[in-house]
Amino acid sequence: MSARAARSPQPGSTPMDLPYLRSYPAQLQDQVRALLASGGTAALLQRKYPQAHALRTDKALYEYTAELKAQHLRKGATLQKVAYDSKIHVVRNALGLHTSRALVQGGKLSARHEIRVAAMFKNTPEEFLRMIVVHELAHLREKDHDKAFYQLCSHMEPSYHQYEFDVRLYLTHLDAGGARLWGPAPAPQ
Ligand SMILES: [Zn+2]
Repeated sequence: MSARAARSPQPGSTPMDLPYLRSYPAQLQDQVRALLASGGTAALLQRKYPQAHALRTDKALYEYTAELKAQHLRKGATLQKVAYDSKIHVVRNALGLHTSRALVQGGKLSARHEIRVAAMFKNTPEEFLRMIVVHELAHLREKDHDKAFYQLCSHMEPSYHQYEFDVRLYLTHLDAGGARLWGPAPAPQ
């Protein structure tokens, strides 16, 4: 009787909330809950993505981003800055940040584009970094997360949706207290 009482759910309790995976079907979220409960998330991710990328500096990140942009968004505005940012707290939808400021230069209006990538992506597989960079580059052209936006993401990286899911799975793993899987945490600031 008492054991049963101990196991009965709290009033209003529902299955564990997975904030990074809310937009996915309930059945898929249940599969992730089962995976987390079995402790198999780390092994699954590491098997799929054995290696971290080597883009350790802002300069390397800029060149990587500029090359992707040159391939797919040639007509877009120039990127002034691309950098890792340890102040971005990766929660919910804020995987990266993109800013476009209109500057008046000699009477002409020009846009200044910056992309900042959460510093945790220094220590991830290249596929995860690519997903973030593609996402932020797509925002140069499409502001909202609508159909046109995701079409552009998939055009730049055909496996975009799989990578985004796997990034969100990794964030869910970290959220549940799991260890970082690819190298040390960035130094705190
Ligand atoms: Zn976005």
